Amino acid sequence: MNKAAFFDRDGTINIDKGYVHRIEDFEFIKGMPEFIKKYNDEGYKVIVVTNQAGIARGYYTQKEVDILHNYINEELAKIGAHIDAFYICPHHPDFTGDCNCRKPKTGMIEQAIKDFDIDVKQSVLFGDKPWDIECGERCNIKSYYIQDLLNEYSEI
Ligand SMILES: [Mg+2]
Ligand SMILES: [Zn+2]
Repeated sequence: MNKAAFFDRDGTINIDKGYVHRIEDFEFIKGMPEFIKKYNDEGYKVIVVTNQAGIARGYYTQKEVDILHNYINEELAKIGAHIDAFYICPHHPDFTGDCNCRKPKTGMIEQAIKDFDIDVKQSVLFGDKPWDIECGERCNIKSYYIQDLLNEYSEI
């Protein structure tokens, strides 16, 4: 089995500017590439789980999100870091009806657990919002507010 570090995206990996989908609007939170690399080096699968209701709202397409995610991995590669997989919820209940993947629902993590043979007991989740933490905890994954950890990390 594998251990995983699950990451929310907006507000956790990059500054949340609201429906970020253009490369020019993407800005890593300070220290995040190195933080991700630490988990790569320790043998974790690094997996992003992100609600992207902007797709349901018609603000941008899945294809644009994929392009942005390729860019993120190109940038991370510059320091030898990478994200193993991105799971996206493209839904919003008002536009596409209910789904089982919009956090705090657990569909994305459950799919990742199957795809990567993840052991939840060895895994962690980082997010910036209560629904991230709730989602992780529903899956019995230790879940942390990234704000708290990056403060500690930058003091090391
Ligand atoms: Mg967030
Ligand atoms: Zn969904």
